[in-house]
Amino acid sequence: AFDVLVIGGGPAGAAAAIYAARKGIRTGVAAERFGGQVLDTMAIENFISVSHTEGPKLATALEQHVKEYEVDVMNLQRAEKLIPAEGPGGLIEIQLANGASLKSKTVILSTGARWRQMGVPGEDEYRNKGVAYCPHCDGPLFKGKRVSVIGGGNSGVEAAIDLAGIVAEVTLIEFDSQLRADEVLQRKLRSLPNVRVITSGLTTEVHGDGTKVTGLSYKNRNTGEVHRIDLEGIFVQIGLVPNTEWLKGSVALSPRGEIEVDARGQTSIPGVFAAGQTQTTVPYKQIIIAMGEGSKAALSAFDYLIRMAPV
Ligand code: FAD
Repeated sequence: AFDVLVIGGGPAGAAAAIYAARKGIRTGVAAERFGGQVLDTMAIENFISVSHTEGPKLATALEQHVKEYEVDVMNLQRAEKLIPAEGPGGLIEIQLANGASLKSKTVILSTGARWRQMGVPGEDEYRNKGVAYCPHCDGPLFKGKRVSVIGGGNSGVEAAIDLAGIVAEVTLIEFDSQLRADEVLQRKLRSLPNVRVITSGLTTEVHGDGTKVTGLSYKNRNTGEVHRIDLEGIFVQIGLVPNTEWLKGSVALSPRGEIEVDARGQTSIPGVFAAGQTQTTVPYKQIIIAMGEGSKAALSAFDYLIRMAPV
């Protein structure tokens, strides 16, 4: 059995594993995709002390740093169930999708988040065939083409500004009657000649020719009228969903599915901690913050272990 078992291999999970391993305790990491969202990121310029790096490069560095320690890295492993220990000092069990189960005295949950989908016809069918979620990754594929950005929060407006420099034209569609992005971003957006903004618009369908996206339909929420736009790409920027469905019924989750933690990263189950984008208490979803939270959770787990009665 492990002393600390980390579930998730993004910045939070990697930091947790390093901090735990440096205490000389048995540490494991099970991750569906080691590197996490960093793998989908291009330029990173706010990772303090590193003025510029790229996602895949940082992901490789994370893995290398973890592997400098005696950490059992189990990549491509998806956790499906958490079973709390039977009594104080008992072992917590994590069941994996491959049928195996792992046991540990403490567990750190750092399963991050994923893009929220629109849930309209055509979205799944044309995912990666015109429907995209990561402007930094896929923007250049639409050079000179027409795209739409769904969502007028900070990420949607940032995506539209970013894409406007690459593509022919951008149509930003916001569900609300006004954009929700910071004013400075909105001002920048309005200064761009090839961006059109539609508010009170609800996307209803993604159209395609069987192999790629050809357009989308949206409903004007004021008039009920449905309009069709011809385009080649759709960037969905309507937020992130925490990867915590598998924890329902075990640790306490917020109504939005985020894990409830205290200031030390402790969840509602003794010995189970959470770190990074899955946590309720972390408002800014950033790499450096996820790493800080991961380190904190590992130190809290260690603190918990040294207070455990010898079994
Ligand atoms: P994640 O990175 O989401 O990692 C979660 C890990 O858990 C992954 O390894 C995943 O495979 C695994 N996992 C999920 N479910 C399971 C399961 N059931 N079982 C096992 N493993 C599981 N931040 C910045 O600071 N600067 C930037 O410039 C920046 N740019 C970004 C650009 C893009 C396009 C994106 C998507 C994000 C960007 N971010 C940026 C945000 C940053 O990537 C995240 O805040 C950070 O990755 C969160 O780390 P995390 O460890 O909490 O979660």
